[in-house]
Amino acid sequence: MFHSIEETRKVILSGEITIESIVKHFQQSIHDKKSLNAFVEVFEQEAITLAQEIDVKIKNGTAGKLAGLIIGIKDNICYKGHKVSAASNILNNYTSIYSATCVERLVAEDAIIIGRLNCDEFGMGSSNENSAFGPVKNPFNEKLVAGGSSGGSAAAVAAGLCMAALGSDTGGSIRQPASFCGVIGLKPTYGRVSRHGLLAYASSFDQIGIFSNTVEDCAAILSVISGKDAFDSTVSSEPQPNFPLKLDVSEKKKIAYFKEYIENEGLDYEIKEQFNQKIKELKADGHSVEAIDFPFIKYLIPCYYLLTTAEASSNLSRYDGVHYGHRSANATDLESTYILSRNEGFGAEVKRRILLGTFVLSAGYYDAYYSKAQKVRRMIRDFTLSIFEKFDFILLPTTPGTAFPIGEKSNDPLVMYLEDIFTVQANLCGIPAISLPLGKHSNGLPFGIQLMGNLMKENELLSFSEELLKREENLNA
Ligand code: GLN
Repeated sequence: MFHSIEETRKVILSGEITIESIVKHFQQSIHDKKSLNAFVEVFEQEAITLAQEIDVKIKNGTAGKLAGLIIGIKDNICYKGHKVSAASNILNNYTSIYSATCVERLVAEDAIIIGRLNCDEFGMGSSNENSAFGPVKNPFNEKLVAGGSSGGSAAAVAAGLCMAALGSDTGGSIRQPASFCGVIGLKPTYGRVSRHGLLAYASSFDQIGIFSNTVEDCAAILSVISGKDAFDSTVSSEPQPNFPLKLDVSEKKKIAYFKEYIENEGLDYEIKEQFNQKIKELKADGHSVEAIDFPFIKYLIPCYYLLTTAEASSNLSRYDGVHYGHRSANATDLESTYILSRNEGFGAEVKRRILLGTFVLSAGYYDAYYSKAQKVRRMIRDFTLSIFEKFDFILLPTTPGTAFPIGEKSNDPLVMYLEDIFTVQANLCGIPAISLPLGKHSNGLPFGIQLMGNLMKENELLSFSEELLKREENLNA
């Protein structure tokens, strides 16, 4: 019920149902599925009051474009007057003093933000097990992880606790949990959506994106939240994406895929089989699909983790017990304030990354690690962008496997980092990528198929995604 904005708007505009009752419906579902641990806070009364106001606007014909949209936000996106913690004890009880640009734009179009969603601490993780609020459970099986770092966002949309959600994606944190929970997850082009009000993890990688049940919803939300912003100079002034989507199914696409990804021994056998099947279907539909070499696969994860930890060590230096959040009760002077507050406030994975990042930036190792990784990043980006001179899209799996048991990988950071093998490329290059719930494993779990597009080509990416999902629907009908 209330699966998409369009379907919901129809019943609202016909007067059959009020937005207030829709908010209550979602709040009840959140309550019923509390065991998922997807929400860390629900804006109970406030959402109802807002709904009542928007119901009046609907009657007067003055409601915004997104009236009827009930959306959750990842707990690293600021909403003025509301708590935000990035699932970290270091920001325990911290309240946002301004709203993120994306939040302001949603609210201006009468979307209702129903609460904040669990995630890995500062977005660092691939399973949502690194959260001060505990792990998010997978709605398909509560013994399994929901994926991370935006696990709460993915689980909430999959379980029907809200219609859509915002997340952030630094190396796959939208697409990987979307794959594990069977929903759509879009990471836009770097610079498409303002990062103002997003608690920074790795600023040259971070991008806010969308979880939804339909591509149309994803497009509608993207067209509202994207675009120039005086608070973030990295946002592009290119025209915003189209909405509604203009589908051009007559045009046949040129699609590339990487042999090295499909031959990768870490890739689940059934995912590989279904991926190859997809390729056959696309060819049968008249698209051209070609295997190409991607010589950089073994550099992806090291390059990504070197650079993101470096940026994280710098970004997270602001949490010092003086400016924000937690301050140790045992501190006696400035130095012990820094040391004790950070030691008590940050979790183990965040500490590991701050240490790694500080190391690769340190004077003696900067050239050997950080600047080398920057050069590798440039090579990966140049190579990837050159592919788009000949191809429209790159097709790849989203994740090497399906959702895994809670606890299975949490003791081995390297194994966990390999979860991101297929997702970090898009962030290293700044290109848009989407995970589509096209796979169904014999173990009963969903998995995503990922499409990457050229810079700023969200329109093309979304319309082709819609075509792929429609095709699947017709097959299953
Ligand atoms: N799993 C990756 C990491 O831990 C990606 C995180 C993200 O995209 N925020 O860095």
